[in-house]
Amino acid sequence: MISTSSSPPSVNSSRMRSEIQALQPQLVEWRRRLHERPELGFREHLTAEFITQKLQSWGIEHQTGVAKTGIVATISSTQPGPVLAIRADMDALPIQEENEVSYRSQHDGVMHACGHDGHTAIALGTASYLAQHRDDFIGTVKIIFQPAEEGPGGAKPMIEAGVLKNPDVDAIIGLHLWNNLPLGTVGVRSGALMAAVECFRARILGKGGHGAMPHQTVDSVVVAAQIVNALQTIVARHVDPIESAVVTVGELHAGTALNVIADTARMSGTVRYFNPALAELIPQRVEQIIAGICQSQGAKYDLDYWQLYPPVINDAGIAELVRSVASGVIETPVGIVPECQTMGGEDMSFFLQAVPGCYFFLGSANPAKNLAHPHHHPHFDFDETALGMGVEIFVRCVEKFCS
Ligand SMILES: [Zn+2]
Ligand SMILES: [Zn+2]
Repeated sequence: MISTSSSPPSVNSSRMRSEIQALQPQLVEWRRRLHERPELGFREHLTAEFITQKLQSWGIEHQTGVAKTGIVATISSTQPGPVLAIRADMDALPIQEENEVSYRSQHDGVMHACGHDGHTAIALGTASYLAQHRDDFIGTVKIIFQPAEEGPGGAKPMIEAGVLKNPDVDAIIGLHLWNNLPLGTVGVRSGALMAAVECFRARILGKGGHGAMPHQTVDSVVVAAQIVNALQTIVARHVDPIESAVVTVGELHAGTALNVIADTARMSGTVRYFNPALAELIPQRVEQIIAGICQSQGAKYDLDYWQLYPPVINDAGIAELVRSVASGVIETPVGIVPECQTMGGEDMSFFLQAVPGCYFFLGSANPAKNLAHPHHHPHFDFDETALGMGVEIFVRCVEKFCS
């Protein structure tokens, strides 16, 4: 499962590896049990019950009902020391599973198509290992089982409920199983890993009329078309070309008949970027472009623009901790992949705004076993070998940080 280290591992380290390897069948069993009963954000009741039963049976102190369905487990060493948090999200997606597997989703129209069942199993495995090895670290480990990552977001309400306090968390780590990387790799980097997620919805209010008499109307379709094009100049002309950003109009609706000028057009879209400095510029430009074009054409508009998740920004020190630990676990030629940024978003970003930390990708694709479909695909599945790797990385991070 995990290749042995080129330098001989210490007795402690090889004992850890064999104990985690022995845990592998249970990790798979838990993951499949969770996979069979996926639940949408803030409705993870069966999931929370499953986690609670496990924590209780291992004698791990925990708090339930945090931000509705979230759970925080606290594992303290026999000695005081630093506090490291580990975050796992646990929600599923409104997707009908198309995999023909024994552990296929039993909930119609709901599926663990992002791997959060695996994240929960890895966090449980880590909790179970640490609870039995409280002498191998100092301080406290908090394991945060978070609801609703896929939206509307469970991280922020959990922070507001005080999960990073009492005892105060010094650093946080978390991982995403990642089918964009092959099994046996870890995507880790300092700085921006994932993008900010922002959304907008606009209505262009023109004046309808006859398709042959445009001079009597304000054509919302023509106005909307200009806006769609002009929005692309935000990235092309206003954002520093060294930076990355995306403005996508995903929906555009107007009109009812080919010979009628539509009085209203509706559009919605998403904005992504890494640099937090763009949090002001882009929304401003979106509104200026819509307002300016509407004004020049005699149309009116209304606009809703909301900032869903900030960018995921890793702390250099904690990223280095994860990188050094992971390179002892993953030893393939491409083992550590720093070029792993994505314009996808994650509400892990709120935790990383509050305390230093690192979010990283654990490669989970295995095309030879047909386990390489993209996330959020009805055939998504991952190589479960990654589960044990995830536990080993977390446990080694704990032993290194809390030492
Ligand atoms: Zn997802
Ligand atoms: Zn996800």
